[in-house]
Amino acid sequence: DERMILQFQITLYGDDERLLMARDITRLHRLEQMRRDFVANVSHELRTPLTVLAGYLETYADHADQLPPRFARGLGQMQQQAHRMQNLVEDLLLLSRLETDRGGEDHAPLAMDELLDSVRRDAEALSGGRQTVTVEREEAASLVGSEQEIRSAISNLAFNAVRYTPPGSRIVLRWRPHPEGACLEVEDDGEGIDPVHIPRLTERFYRVDKGRSTATGGTGLGLAIVKHVLLRHDARLEIESRPGQGALFRCLFPAERLSAPSESPRSVHA
Ligand code: ADP
Repeated sequence: DERMILQFQITLYGDDERLLMARDITRLHRLEQMRRDFVANVSHELRTPLTVLAGYLETYADHADQLPPRFARGLGQMQQQAHRMQNLVEDLLLLSRLETDRGGEDHAPLAMDELLDSVRRDAEALSGGRQTVTVEREEAASLVGSEQEIRSAISNLAFNAVRYTPPGSRIVLRWRPHPEGACLEVEDDGEGIDPVHIPRLTERFYRVDKGRSTATGGTGLGLAIVKHVLLRHDARLEIESRPGQGALFRCLFPAERLSAPSESPRSVHA
Protein backbone atom coordinates (compact mmCIF):
# COMPACT_ATOMS: atom_id res chain seq x y z
CA ASP A 1 0.00 0.00 0.00
CA GLU A 2 0.98 3.63 -0.46
CA ARG A 3 0.83 4.78 3.14
CA MET A 4 3.80 6.55 4.59
CA ILE A 5 4.87 5.58 8.06
CA LEU A 6 6.38 8.18 10.34
CA GLN A 7 7.94 7.77 13.72
CA PHE A 8 7.88 10.78 16.06
CA GLN A 9 10.10 11.46 18.99
CA ILE A 10 9.74 14.39 21.39
CA THR A 11 12.64 15.32 23.63
CA LEU A 12 12.14 17.81 26.47
CA TYR A 13 14.94 20.23 27.40
CA GLY A 14 14.30 22.04 30.67
CA ASP A 15 10.91 23.76 31.05
CA ASP A 16 10.26 25.39 27.71
CA GLU A 17 12.31 23.74 25.03
CA ARG A 18 11.21 20.74 23.05
CA LEU A 19 12.74 18.94 20.13
CA LEU A 20 10.40 17.14 17.77
CA MET A 21 11.91 14.63 15.39
CA ALA A 22 10.06 12.82 12.65
CA ARG A 23 11.58 9.86 10.88
CA ASP A 24 10.26 8.25 7.73
CA ILE A 25 10.28 4.51 8.46
CA THR A 26 8.17 3.49 5.47
CA ARG A 27 11.04 1.63 3.84
CA LEU A 28 12.00 -0.13 7.05
CA HIS A 29 8.40 -1.17 7.56
CA ARG A 30 8.14 -2.55 4.01
CA LEU A 31 11.37 -4.48 4.37
CA GLU A 32 10.10 -6.00 7.60
CA GLN A 33 6.86 -6.95 5.86
CA MET A 34 8.83 -8.54 3.00
CA ARG A 35 10.93 -10.52 5.45
CA ARG A 36 7.80 -11.86 7.15
CA ASP A 37 6.12 -12.78 3.87
CA PHE A 38 9.27 -14.45 2.63
CA VAL A 39 9.65 -16.61 5.74
CA ALA A 40 5.97 -17.53 5.66
CA ASN A 41 6.09 -18.43 1.95
CA VAL A 42 9.26 -20.49 2.18
CA SER A 43 7.92 -22.38 5.17
CA HIS A 44 4.69 -23.05 3.41
CA GLU A 45 6.43 -24.27 0.26
CA LEU A 46 8.66 -26.61 2.28
CA ARG A 47 5.75 -28.30 3.95
CA THR A 48 4.58 -30.50 1.07
CA PRO A 49 7.97 -31.85 -0.07
CA LEU A 50 8.84 -32.61 3.54
CA THR A 51 5.61 -34.51 4.03
CA VAL A 52 6.36 -36.59 0.93
CA LEU A 53 9.93 -37.31 2.09
CA ALA A 54 8.85 -38.24 5.60
CA GLY A 55 6.12 -40.47 4.16
CA TYR A 56 8.54 -42.44 1.98
CA LEU A 57 11.06 -42.71 4.79
CA GLU A 58 8.40 -44.19 7.01
CA THR A 59 7.46 -46.76 4.39
CA TYR A 60 11.10 -47.77 3.99
CA ALA A 61 11.58 -47.89 7.74
CA ASP A 62 8.77 -50.44 7.91
CA HIS A 63 11.00 -52.71 5.81
CA ALA A 64 14.29 -51.82 7.46
CA ASP A 65 14.96 -55.50 8.28
CA GLN A 66 15.52 -56.11 4.56
CA LEU A 67 18.26 -53.48 4.43
CA PRO A 68 21.96 -53.86 5.28
CA PRO A 69 22.45 -52.59 8.91
CA ARG A 70 24.48 -49.62 7.70
CA PHE A 71 21.59 -48.40 5.55
CA ALA A 72 19.06 -49.06 8.26
CA ARG A 73 21.01 -46.80 10.62
CA GLY A 74 21.16 -44.08 7.98
CA LEU A 75 17.44 -44.38 7.47
CA GLY A 76 16.81 -43.78 11.15
CA GLN A 77 18.96 -40.64 11.00
CA MET A 78 17.10 -39.41 7.93
CA GLN A 79 13.77 -39.88 9.65
CA GLN A 80 14.97 -37.98 12.67
CA GLN A 81 16.22 -35.07 10.59
CA ALA A 82 13.10 -34.96 8.45
CA HIS A 83 11.06 -34.81 11.64
CA ARG A 84 13.21 -31.97 12.91
CA MET A 85 12.71 -30.02 9.71
CA GLN A 86 8.97 -30.57 9.93
CA ASN A 87 8.93 -29.19 13.47
CA LEU A 88 10.95 -26.20 12.35
CA VAL A 89 8.63 -25.46 9.45
CA GLU A 90 5.55 -25.76 11.67
CA ASP A 91 7.08 -23.42 14.27
CA LEU A 92 8.05 -20.88 11.59
CA LEU A 93 4.53 -20.94 10.20
CA LEU A 94 3.01 -20.56 13.64
CA LEU A 95 5.34 -17.67 14.43
CA SER A 96 4.52 -15.82 11.23
CA ARG A 97 0.78 -16.30 11.85
CA LEU A 98 1.25 -14.91 15.36
CA GLU A 99 3.06 -11.90 13.94
CA THR A 100 0.57 -11.04 11.21
CA ASP A 101 -2.93 -12.18 12.20
CA ARG A 102 -4.88 -9.80 14.34
CA GLY A 103 -6.03 -12.52 16.72
CA GLY A 104 -8.69 -12.11 19.34
CA GLU A 105 -11.62 -13.66 17.42
CA ASP A 106 -11.64 -16.99 19.18
CA HIS A 107 -11.23 -15.69 22.69
CA ALA A 108 -13.22 -17.36 25.46
CA PRO A 109 -12.70 -18.18 29.14
CA LEU A 110 -10.41 -21.20 29.20
CA ALA A 111 -10.80 -24.27 31.37
CA MET A 112 -7.46 -23.81 33.12
CA ASP A 113 -7.60 -27.11 35.02
CA GLU A 114 -8.07 -29.18 31.90
CA LEU A 115 -5.55 -27.17 29.93
CA LEU A 116 -2.81 -27.51 32.54
CA ASP A 117 -3.55 -31.16 33.10
CA SER A 118 -3.39 -31.98 29.43
CA VAL A 119 -0.06 -30.15 29.04
CA ARG A 120 1.18 -32.00 32.15
CA ARG A 121 0.35 -35.33 30.50
CA ASP A 122 2.16 -34.35 27.28
CA ALA A 123 5.21 -33.19 29.25
CA GLU A 124 5.23 -36.43 31.22
CA ALA A 125 5.12 -38.41 28.00
CA LEU A 126 8.08 -36.43 26.66
CA SER A 127 9.94 -36.92 29.94
CA GLY A 128 9.40 -40.66 29.90
CA GLY A 129 9.48 -40.77 33.71
CA ARG A 130 12.83 -39.00 34.06
CA GLN A 131 11.26 -35.98 35.75
CA THR A 132 8.09 -35.37 37.74
CA VAL A 133 5.57 -32.87 36.43
CA THR A 134 2.82 -31.52 38.70
CA VAL A 135 0.07 -28.92 38.48
CA GLU A 136 -0.58 -26.39 41.23
CA ARG A 137 -3.81 -24.53 40.84
CA GLU A 138 -4.87 -21.71 43.10
CA GLU A 139 -8.27 -20.10 42.94
CA ALA A 140 -7.77 -17.51 40.22
CA ALA A 141 -10.28 -16.44 37.61
CA SER A 142 -10.08 -18.08 34.20
CA LEU A 143 -8.01 -16.60 31.47
CA VAL A 144 -9.84 -15.23 28.45
CA GLY A 145 -7.85 -16.05 25.35
CA SER A 146 -7.15 -18.38 22.49
CA GLU A 147 -6.99 -21.95 23.74
CA GLN A 148 -4.72 -23.03 20.90
CA GLU A 149 -2.23 -20.22 21.44
CA ILE A 150 -2.16 -20.45 25.23
CA ARG A 151 -1.73 -24.21 24.98
CA SER A 152 1.22 -23.79 22.65
CA ALA A 153 2.82 -21.25 25.03
CA ILE A 154 2.49 -23.49 28.11
CA SER A 155 3.58 -26.54 26.14
CA ASN A 156 6.72 -24.80 24.92
CA LEU A 157 7.64 -23.78 28.47
CA ALA A 158 6.83 -27.20 29.91
CA PHE A 159 8.70 -29.09 27.16
CA ASN A 160 11.73 -26.83 27.64
CA ALA A 161 11.67 -27.62 31.34
CA VAL A 162 11.71 -31.32 30.47
CA ARG A 163 14.43 -30.94 27.84
CA TYR A 164 16.77 -28.76 29.86
CA THR A 165 16.64 -30.38 33.28
CA PRO A 166 18.48 -33.50 34.42
CA PRO A 167 16.71 -36.71 35.46
CA GLY A 168 15.05 -36.50 38.86
CA SER A 169 14.11 -32.83 38.45
CA ARG A 170 10.76 -31.48 39.49
CA ILE A 171 8.65 -29.35 37.19
CA VAL A 172 5.60 -27.41 38.34
CA LEU A 173 2.89 -25.87 36.15
CA ARG A 174 1.09 -23.24 38.19
CA TRP A 175 -1.92 -20.93 37.74
CA ARG A 176 -2.35 -18.40 40.52
CA PRO A 177 -3.56 -14.88 41.30
CA HIS A 178 -1.10 -12.02 41.07
CA PRO A 179 -1.47 -8.37 42.19
CA GLU A 180 -1.74 -7.36 38.51
CA GLY A 181 -4.16 -10.13 37.51
CA ALA A 182 -3.06 -13.73 37.34
CA CYS A 183 -0.03 -15.64 36.28
CA LEU A 184 0.91 -18.87 34.74
CA GLU A 185 4.23 -20.22 35.90
CA VAL A 186 6.45 -23.04 34.77
CA GLU A 187 9.12 -23.69 37.36
CA ASP A 188 11.86 -26.28 37.45
CA ASP A 189 14.70 -27.13 39.81
CA GLY A 190 17.23 -27.92 37.10
CA GLU A 191 20.46 -26.20 36.12
CA GLY A 192 18.88 -22.80 35.58
CA ILE A 193 20.18 -20.22 33.12
CA ASP A 194 23.06 -17.79 33.50
CA PRO A 195 21.39 -14.34 33.91
CA VAL A 196 23.51 -12.84 31.10
CA HIS A 197 21.45 -14.87 28.61
CA ILE A 198 18.02 -13.99 29.95
CA PRO A 199 17.40 -10.73 28.03
CA ARG A 200 18.02 -12.51 24.71
CA LEU A 201 16.24 -15.83 25.30
CA THR A 202 13.07 -14.88 23.40
CA GLU A 203 14.98 -13.99 20.23
CA ARG A 204 14.54 -16.42 17.37
CA PHE A 205 17.20 -19.13 17.34
CA TYR A 206 18.94 -17.76 20.42
CA ARG A 207 20.34 -20.63 22.43
CA VAL A 208 22.49 -20.85 25.50
CA ASP A 209 24.13 -24.03 24.30
CA LYS A 210 23.61 -24.65 20.61
CA GLY A 211 24.82 -28.25 20.55
CA ARG A 212 22.76 -29.28 23.51
CA SER A 213 19.52 -27.74 22.37
CA THR A 214 19.82 -29.24 18.89
CA ALA A 215 20.33 -32.64 20.49
CA THR A 216 17.22 -32.20 22.63
CA GLY A 217 15.08 -31.56 19.56
CA GLY A 218 14.32 -27.86 19.99
CA THR A 219 13.73 -25.57 17.02
CA GLY A 220 15.13 -22.44 18.67
CA LEU A 221 11.75 -20.78 18.24
CA GLY A 222 9.96 -21.93 21.40
CA LEU A 223 10.42 -18.83 23.52
CA ALA A 224 9.86 -16.51 20.54
CA ILE A 225 6.47 -18.20 20.10
CA VAL A 226 5.73 -17.79 23.82
CA LYS A 227 6.59 -14.09 23.62
CA HIS A 228 4.29 -13.46 20.65
CA VAL A 229 1.39 -15.40 22.16
CA LEU A 230 1.73 -13.30 25.31
CA LEU A 231 1.91 -10.03 23.35
CA ARG A 232 -1.39 -10.95 21.72
CA HIS A 233 -2.90 -11.47 25.16
CA ASP A 234 -1.57 -8.20 26.63
CA ALA A 235 0.62 -10.32 28.85
CA ARG A 236 4.34 -10.31 29.54
CA LEU A 237 6.99 -12.87 30.28
CA GLU A 238 9.26 -12.72 33.31
CA ILE A 239 12.19 -15.09 33.54
CA GLU A 240 13.94 -15.76 36.82
CA SER A 241 16.84 -18.06 37.24
CA ARG A 242 19.40 -18.94 39.81
CA PRO A 243 22.09 -20.96 38.08
CA GLY A 244 22.34 -24.39 39.56
CA GLN A 245 18.97 -24.13 41.26
CA GLY A 246 16.39 -23.86 38.54
CA ALA A 247 14.43 -21.57 36.27
CA LEU A 248 11.05 -19.89 36.55
CA PHE A 249 9.09 -18.65 33.55
CA ARG A 250 6.17 -16.43 34.57
CA CYS A 251 3.45 -15.30 32.16
CA LEU A 252 1.69 -12.33 33.68
CA PHE A 253 -1.87 -11.65 32.50
CA PRO A 254 -3.55 -8.33 33.37
CA ALA A 255 -6.92 -8.31 35.21
CA GLU A 256 -8.72 -7.26 31.98
CA ARG A 257 -7.81 -10.66 30.57
CA LEU A 258 -9.59 -12.63 33.30
CA SER A 259 -13.18 -13.78 33.23
CA ALA A 260 -13.98 -12.68 36.80
CA PRO A 261 -12.10 -10.83 39.56
CA SER A 262 -9.63 -13.18 41.21
CA GLU A 263 -10.35 -14.33 44.74
CA SER A 264 -7.93 -14.80 47.58
CA PRO A 265 -5.52 -17.68 47.09
CA ARG A 266 -6.85 -21.07 48.07
CA SER A 267 -5.23 -24.26 47.03
CA VAL A 268 -7.73 -26.42 45.19
CA HIS A 269 -5.69 -29.29 43.95
CA ALA A 270 -2.07 -30.15 43.62
P1 ADP B 1 15.18 -24.25 21.93
O1 ADP B 1 14.74 -24.91 23.20
O2 ADP B 1 14.58 -24.89 20.76
O3 ADP B 1 16.64 -24.10 21.81
P2 ADP B 1 13.77 -21.96 23.00
O4 ADP B 1 13.49 -20.62 22.41
O5 ADP B 1 12.60 -22.74 23.46
O6 ADP B 1 14.61 -22.75 21.90
O7 ADP B 1 14.77 -21.79 24.23
C1 ADP B 1 15.93 -20.97 24.10
C2 ADP B 1 17.03 -21.42 25.03
O8 ADP B 1 16.66 -21.15 26.40
C3 ADP B 1 17.30 -22.92 25.01
O9 ADP B 1 18.18 -23.25 23.97
C4 ADP B 1 17.91 -23.16 26.39
O10 ADP B 1 19.30 -22.90 26.34
C5 ADP B 1 17.26 -22.10 27.27
N1 ADP B 1 16.19 -22.65 28.15
C6 ADP B 1 14.87 -22.61 27.93
N2 ADP B 1 14.17 -23.15 28.94
C7 ADP B 1 15.08 -23.54 29.87
C8 ADP B 1 14.99 -24.17 31.17
N3 ADP B 1 13.81 -24.51 31.72
N4 ADP B 1 16.15 -24.41 31.83
C9 ADP B 1 17.35 -24.06 31.28
N5 ADP B 1 17.49 -23.48 30.07
C10 ADP B 1 16.38 -23.22 29.36
